[in-house]
Amino acid sequence: MKKGLMFIVLSLIVMSLAACSSNSGGSKSDKGSVGLSMPTKSSERWVADGGNMKKEFEALGYDVDLQYAEDVIENQVSQIENMITKGVKVLIIAAIDGESLTDVLQKAADENISVIAYDRLIRNTEHLSYYATFDNFKVGVLQASYIEDKLGLKEGKGPFNIELFGGSPDDNNAYFFFDGAMSVLQPYIDNGKLVVKSGQTKMEQVATLRWDGATAQSRMDNLLSANYTSDQVDAVLSPYDGISIGIISSLKGVGYGSGDKAMPIISGQDAELASVKSIIAGEQTSTIFKDTRELAKVAVSMAEAVLEGKEATINDTTTYDNGVKVVPSFLLEPVSVDIMNYKEILIDSGYYADSDF
Ligand code: BGC
Repeated sequence: MKKGLMFIVLSLIVMSLAACSSNSGGSKSDKGSVGLSMPTKSSERWVADGGNMKKEFEALGYDVDLQYAEDVIENQVSQIENMITKGVKVLIIAAIDGESLTDVLQKAADENISVIAYDRLIRNTEHLSYYATFDNFKVGVLQASYIEDKLGLKEGKGPFNIELFGGSPDDNNAYFFFDGAMSVLQPYIDNGKLVVKSGQTKMEQVATLRWDGATAQSRMDNLLSANYTSDQVDAVLSPYDGISIGIISSLKGVGYGSGDKAMPIISGQDAELASVKSIIAGEQTSTIFKDTRELAKVAVSMAEAVLEGKEATINDTTTYDNGVKVVPSFLLEPVSVDIMNYKEILIDSGYYADSDF
């Protein structure tokens, strides 16, 4: 009896050792490596994006070189150059500055390395196979529609005061978000139901370099002291949660959120944990959830298609002209999140755990 048991245990150990060695040895080196170049670890979403793709690729037997450039363009270029030198088979890049990678992508092309743009379009290059992203125009439409709903603009309410913030001017997405939002807001600005007291309504006036929260906070400080000493601001269009946090600090600094000074309606994007907590606390009003798990899957399947010489699945062939060509894309659907639906969208889907809050 004892001997029999011992035999079974030993057989199991031998079998599992054999399985381990075939996973780590054979299949990995057979498939080669992929290079993942992400912009920064300072925002949760990119940490999740990189982690999700790494997990997916490793499960398929690839080695993964995952690098973060901490929002410094030169870091990103040299990290990609290193990946090319090390002989990665494919590059997946979320650019810091969508216009600064033309030369390094030429080097990748010279080595027959295919490139996939991740979330952010890479401009001014023909050496881009695919683009995996979300419907970025719709992100802006959702952000602004939320403001439209909460203010009751469709019902003719107003006038209300609003201020506008844009994303980083070197990120192609920032223009899509802003244009999408303005497609909803502009008619109300034109008919006087929305008033932008600062007069700053153009992307070049409202952009926030590198999506930096501190930059947004100091712009909001200036907007408030120049325009809102006697009036209140009723809504703020913010393109990204990190920017919303800066705006909220500025608002709190002059007493919004206490006494008779209600917090304005404030949008956001990415459903970052701090901002979902802020929504629960009644400060930020809404955010946009973009499921990075799904985006990682799309990018990985594009990379596999490229490596196997097959066509990747795409659903858009018209929207993303990078200045040289229209890049075949797959667009995922963004979802608007607020206090009413955050549990269903973020917790029931397993994106966050109940204990995170
Ligand atoms: C992404 C957004 C993100 C922003 C700042 C954009 O390119 O699409 O999801 O909020 O960058 O990181």
